[in-house]
Amino acid sequence: MPGPKTHDIFYKQLKKNLSAQTLAVFPHYDQYNIFAQGHDFLIYHDFYKIWSSKKLNNNINASVLLQETNFQLFVYNYLKQAHSSGALEEEQVRLFIGPGYIMHHLLDAYLHPLIIYYAGDHTPDATFDTWHHGCVENLIDIYMMKHIEKKDPNHYPVYHDFTLPKTIISNSLIQTLNDCLRETYALVSGGEIFYESFYQMALFMKIFKYDHYGIKKKIFDKVDPIYHGASSFSYHRDVELAIPFLNQKREEWVNPYDASLHFYYTFMDLYEMALIRGAYIIEELEKICMSGNIYKDDIYDLIPDVNSVTGLSCEKHVKLLNRKQWDFMPKLF
Ligand SMILES: [Zn+2]
Repeated sequence: MPGPKTHDIFYKQLKKNLSAQTLAVFPHYDQYNIFAQGHDFLIYHDFYKIWSSKKLNNNINASVLLQETNFQLFVYNYLKQAHSSGALEEEQVRLFIGPGYIMHHLLDAYLHPLIIYYAGDHTPDATFDTWHHGCVENLIDIYMMKHIEKKDPNHYPVYHDFTLPKTIISNSLIQTLNDCLRETYALVSGGEIFYESFYQMALFMKIFKYDHYGIKKKIFDKVDPIYHGASSFSYHRDVELAIPFLNQKREEWVNPYDASLHFYYTFMDLYEMALIRGAYIIEELEKICMSGNIYKDDIYDLIPDVNSVTGLSCEKHVKLLNRKQWDFMPKLF
């Protein structure tokens, strides 16, 4: 994951890149921005219980499966199930998989190599005094809010952007998710987990990110040495702290898992590339859904085989080798 707000903004910006024809079949696009959280719903699920390390580990393990394995197969299974049950006719069932789930995964795959190169692994590393990755993604959320949405991240009641009306999710979406999560990942009741998580997100944002007076920031930073990663919470932070991680000077960097892949892209370059590629995928996916023929080959041609952490193929099992973090770490809080 980049942070929840970065994904939310991406969903909203993607809309501006879609054709009038595609938007005509998504009249309720704006109501379903919560879908932008994609596989991260498994991490946020019952977030108030994750003080129990068993629950936390369950959440992480389930979400890692979705992030790192069988992405194309999952998308195919979802579409196949939804097509055979008739659910694919429903706007929200298509909004979930395309602009929601696939776009979340795609944005992750574009941004994560840069974030991990600059700020380290998405799982906390005990050799460092804090969880740089999470802290940086939190700062980037703030940067995106300020520069793209023109909102004041320190005071804006951000949980409003994550509030979903109670009656809006259809049973066919839950059923489709149940079926394809079981089929692809052997995950039981996955649809119910996603469903509950949709409605828990606003409270998560209210408790952990919204921080009008900056009091929570002080507390989170104080307990960060004990609970590594506490400083990845609170949007009441200095937006300038995000700048060193955006590579605005276009320095050379490498994929953290494969040093033969060199880049000069900035964070925003990658974000824009994901928007363009993403809009293309959504347009083509709609054509496939409308055609009434869900063929595995078509789906595999359109949906990249990509691990959302490494940006490389899901088949490649790789180790984190290259990090700027080892000799450089600007102030995070
Ligand atoms: Zn991440």
